[in-house]
Amino acid sequence: MRKPRLMTPGPAPVPEEVLLELARPVIHHRSNEAKEVITEVTAGLKEVFKTKNDVMILTASGTGAMEAATVNTVPPGGKAIVLNAGYFADRWAKICKAYGINVVNLETEWGHPVDPQTVENALKANPDAACVMGTLSETSTGTGHPVEAIGKIVAKSDAVFAVDGISGVGAMECHTDKWGIDILCVGSQKALMLPPGLAFIAVSDKAWAKIDAFDSKSFYFNLKTARKKAKEFDTPFTPAHTLILALRAALKMIQTEGIENVWDRHRRLSEACQAGIKALGLELFSSRPAEGLTAFNVPAGLKDSQIRNALTAKFGITTVGGQDKLKGHIIRVGHMGYTDELDVISGLAALEMVLSELGHKLEPGVAVTAAQRVFIGKPARA
Ligand SMILES: *Cc1c(COP(=O)(O)O)cnc(C)c1O
Repeated sequence: MRKPRLMTPGPAPVPEEVLLELARPVIHHRSNEAKEVITEVTAGLKEVFKTKNDVMILTASGTGAMEAATVNTVPPGGKAIVLNAGYFADRWAKICKAYGINVVNLETEWGHPVDPQTVENALKANPDAACVMGTLSETSTGTGHPVEAIGKIVAKSDAVFAVDGISGVGAMECHTDKWGIDILCVGSQKALMLPPGLAFIAVSDKAWAKIDAFDSKSFYFNLKTARKKAKEFDTPFTPAHTLILALRAALKMIQTEGIENVWDRHRRLSEACQAGIKALGLELFSSRPAEGLTAFNVPAGLKDSQIRNALTAKFGITTVGGQDKLKGHIIRVGHMGYTDELDVISGLAALEMVLSELGHKLEPGVAVTAAQRVFIGKPARA
């Protein structure tokens, strides 16, 4: 018997209360009950996203929200500045290319945060850019970006700021309105504790002005159509309603804990996980770690697959490796959403045992102790 432990940065574990909602009989999506649920979850999403802007529910994976943000905001032949600092940020550039949008590719070395000054310079050099596309938590490198500082800069320009918050929202502090995020894209299967299948998009008045200025080519992801329906707490097409019922349960859990406390919990989990990794003599990959996951370098002499496969075989733990150019170089461990102190501690304990058996020199318990010190508020000894 192996108890499955999903420690991936999306999909992430789903709580029992939410899973039970998925077993309910399907209701009709134009019924009053459906409308009531959408009314309720829309209010809940606004609270979690810290926004008064319009929030729309799309039946798609997170990328659907990114595509909607792109195709509705920048006309073909228009220009977008992409804060390209990882595999997922590069997706913005790929979507732009698919729609004939010119990309100013602002590259940042993977694992490092975007420097807000470079955004300011890029906006000065490209006053015709309609949109700046960034990321709150770059899942491919485990990096958190300074969205607040970037938002302040973009707010002074004509461009709108679109942020991929797919693995960030619900794990890292995010004040959509206060930070000047004009379009926030979120997915269901990361810190929001749902299975994959829903995407959410929050749109500011500044972004609506851009959206209303031209006719987007998109049919399914047309935000003007979505806005019209959202006003009646409805969706243009049949939504994944079962997931929306589950969303209501997940949001209730987040609201009961309080979003500020949810952010605090992730901060502690991430700090403890980082402390444990460092205590094992391993190196963090990112210079500014995100809070929903931890990425670390594969120790010399070992293969990432050896470590990850042993974690699965011995302890039922699923982790992920690196993507694209980081394949084989890093391991990423998720601790987002339905995750607590003991999940991090047991994950580190398993990693100690697996590394030890693979010949990596370590004292059993060092990572666990380092994590416990964070949780009980006693900083690690130097
Ligand atoms: C998971 C993720 C995506 C992709 O989302 P899908 O739901 O797979 O479409 C995009 N960006 C970030 C930062 C992610 O973590």
